[in-house]
Parts: sequence; C-alpha cells; structure tokens
Amino acid sequence: MSGQVQGQIRGWCPGALRPMMSGDGLVLRIRPHAGRLLPEQVLALADLAETHGNGLIDLGSRAHLQLRGVTEAALPALHQALISLDLLDFSAEAEARRNILTTPLHRAGDETLTLVEGLEEALRDAPVLPAKFGFAVDTGAAAILGGASADLRIERAAQGLILRAEGMDRGEPVTQDTAIPRLIEVLHWFLAQGAATRMARLAARPPLNATELPMTGPALVPGRTAAGLCLALPFGQIGAAKLRALAVAPLRLTPWRSVIVEGITRAPVTGLIEDPHDPLLRVAACTGAPGCLSAEAPVRGLARSLAPLVPAGALLHVSGCGKGCAHPRPARLTLTARQGRFDLIEDGTASASPALRGLSPDDLPAILRGRLDPSL
Ligand code: SF4
Repeated sequence: MSGQVQGQIRGWCPGALRPMMSGDGLVLRIRPHAGRLLPEQVLALADLAETHGNGLIDLGSRAHLQLRGVTEAALPALHQALISLDLLDFSAEAEARRNILTTPLHRAGDETLTLVEGLEEALRDAPVLPAKFGFAVDTGAAAILGGASADLRIERAAQGLILRAEGMDRGEPVTQDTAIPRLIEVLHWFLAQGAATRMARLAARPPLNATELPMTGPALVPGRTAAGLCLALPFGQIGAAKLRALAVAPLRLTPWRSVIVEGITRAPVTGLIEDPHDPLLRVAACTGAPGCLSAEAPVRGLARSLAPLVPAGALLHVSGCGKGCAHPRPARLTLTARQGRFDLIEDGTASASPALRGLSPDDLPAILRGRLDPSL
C-alpha cells in the first residue's frame, strides 16, 4: 500500500493513506476503532512517532491521532506497522468514510461498541462520501457529543436509542438491531439529494420519524470519570515519551483533545491537564510557525502566556492564519497572525473581520485585559 501525499491541497483532511504536508513534514492521521487504543498499540505508536516522525503526536477534534514530521520514505514501513496494529483501512476512501466519533463514556454492556463495529462494517461498502461527512455513536448514559461535528448520530434517549440527523432537534427511535440499517437508508437518501456536502445544509428534511429528543449530558472535562481518569493534552499535543507513560491501561480518545486512561485515578505522568479549571483549557492554538507552512507567526507560546488572563467561561483562540484549524467556530477573542503581528477579532472566527489590526505580541496582555474585563 503506498501513500498518496496531498502536500499542495489546502483544506484536505489528512489520513494515514493520504498524508498531508506541513511545515515539519508529513502529517499522518490515524483513526483508532471506537476511539480506543490498547496499551500495546499506544506503545507501538509512541515508537513509530519517534522512529518515523518527529516524536510529536496530535489529538484532533475527531478523536483521531496525528503523527507529525514523517518523511515520504518512511511511509511504506509506517503503513505496514499500522496494518499489524489494526489501525489502517484497506483504501484511502474507506479510511475517509470511517469518520465515526464514539462516546468516550461508553459503559460495559451498553450498545456502543457493538454499534460502532456494525457501522464500520456497513460503511466498508458504502459509496464515497463528501469530505468531512461524519457519524457519532453517542450511546453512553447520556449523549455528550452534541457539540462535535457529525451528520448522522445514534444517541441515547430517555426510552432507548434514536437516530438523529444534524439540523434536527429530534430523532427516530431505533434499537440496537435497527439503528445501522436505518442509518444506511438515510445515508443513501442523503446521497440521492445531489451535491450537498453536509446533512445540515440540505433544504429537504431527512425521512426520519423524528419524535424523541436525545438525553443530553455535559461535555467531558479533565478529572475522574466513571471510565477512568480524563487527562487533557496541552494544545492537543503529546510527546512520544509521555504517550508511552500513559500505556498503563487502554486509552479512550475524546474530541476535547483529552484521553481517558481506563480504570485509573492517579495520573501516571506529569504535564497533562487534570484540573478542569486549568487556564490552558481556556485557550486554543494551532501548530503555528514553524510547524505549519501557512502560519504567519508562532502561536502556542503566546497562547500559553495569555491563558491566565482569560476568565472562566471565555475562550481565547490564537491562530497562525485565518484558517483557524484549532477552533473553527467563533471564540470570545481570536488573535489571527498576519505577517508576524496579530489581528484581534471579537466573538468571531479566525477569518472574521478584526476589531484591531497589526498588534504587537508585547501589547497584547494590556489589550486583552481591557477586552476581557472592561472594568480594568
Ligand atoms: S490555522 Fe494554524 S495550523 Fe491551520 S493552516 Fe493556519 S497556521 Fe496552519
């Protein structure tokens, strides 16, 4: 299996079989089944990141991993290793279709892992889907993935399971046996509508007998959970040595750039975020310079230094360019790099019209204090 490098295509979502070129080499995206990794897979990935990459691993908003700094010459060996770890699909199209977000709070004996397995099986023969079209299996004690992007969702409701399409408040009651066949029917209906790329953009309503609301729960925060200890990765990135230290139990990856280490109550390594009030959780920052070819300034050091100024409940997004990879949605304040300086955007995305332009990093603390707390 050979890799197809998509170095020049902006907006391409990298996969393991379609890596994307970045400032620090190729980025390989890996989608663990049901967002779960066994300790031996974790150890092997840490080794692969050091041997074939730059030792840095990203955790993305689809609960996927990315190995960074990979060379093209390393792809055959990497792909072979990923096959032996059951972490590679048979084609780039199959890899793209298997865009399934799984609740990290699934419980022993619930339907979640069976549904994910069934959905993966059904998607193997599905037609090619639009880029970014995705699914969520959100069937823990409550549905917690509502804030994450997905076009079709199987969710927990008060009286069982529902199938819900993005853009609809309610879903159709389904069972463990009927959920996947119904989802595939609705998927084919979507594809028959023509050129739409996402479910929520369709003018027509999906053919669902949507009577039930999902039973929703809060998004996951770092700390103890029923499944184990949840640890957030600063800026969604971890080094191979720290990743290796987490291999004391299976890991569940979350779309909040955190992992649950199953069954433990004490962190096996320092440097990860265990406190839900940690200021670093109030900032988002992409790779920035020098790791990304599009970046117009370094961003993570700046975000780290500004984090203590951000009050609880607010979010500061520091973006290396207008693409806004780290937080595609609006944030209370966004700093977008432009030729080494920063534009300030209020309540918008990284590409929105700025309130202030061309700010020096040295001036930012005072400006942010004023904007985040007008009494100062
Ligand atoms: S937002 Fe950041 S990571 Fe995304 S393309 Fe721009 S500089 Fe690169």
